Amino acid sequence: MRKKIIAGNWKMNKTPAETVTLINELKPLVATDEADVVFCVPAISLTTAIEAVKGTNIQIGAQNMYFEESGAYTGEIAPNMLTSIGVKYVVIGHSERREYFAETNETVNKKVIKAFEHGITPIICCGESLTQREQGVTIDFIRQQIKVAFLTVTPDQAKIAVIAYEPIWAIGTGKVATTAQAEEVCKAIRECIDEIYDEVTAEAVRIQYGGSVTAASANELFSQSDIDGGLVGGASLKADFGKIVNYK
Ligand code: PEP
Repeated sequence: MRKKIIAGNWKMNKTPAETVTLINELKPLVATDEADVVFCVPAISLTTAIEAVKGTNIQIGAQNMYFEESGAYTGEIAPNMLTSIGVKYVVIGHSERREYFAETNETVNKKVIKAFEHGITPIICCGESLTQREQGVTIDFIRQQIKVAFLTVTPDQAKIAVIAYEPIWAIGTGKVATTAQAEEVCKAIRECIDEIYDEVTAEAVRIQYGGSVTAASANELFSQSDIDGGLVGGASLKADFGKIVNYK
């Protein structure tokens, strides 16, 4: 039985001081043993957030990381900088990073490999545009994203990976995918992992849905057999996130 994982993607929101306030507000609302709970906060607030969640069930994740160990990469953050402060997860290849910061399937793969090398669990994002959905190429497009993201990743690493299926047209738009649409793609992702590795790996990998998840939609979405939780943007900055985590 896969444990659900519900992660908040705070995006470029909250100063370090505001981070403490929000964590203190959310702490009691997200206390549960039934799901892993992750807050992916801006880099500048990682240290503060790690202090603020001490003694709780909340884990802290980064929203990005570079694939080199150190050196002349102005503005980037190395994997060992994350592990040195206790970061456990990193979001890789979010569609906003692909769109605005030139992330490609190849850079996603390099970052995924590096994250595993450092014992950080990647939350690997994939998802189609509205045009791709309308053209009927959603599954092909996502299979390609997954195949490249997992190149040279070992089965043991793949088993602990988290994949976030996030249709681009559903992110921040209020347009949540239907349960059937979300389950269809998450199932196809699991089948793709089965093809690359084997059934045991496919059954172990956790696949989230992301895209305008709210307290109202979480229960139906997360109850699907191939959906193991969610990556939540807007609603993770509000008390509603507690209802999403306790979606049952
Ligand atoms: C996200 O940022 O990954 C996301 C899914 O955002 P929202 O929930 O706001 O659509």
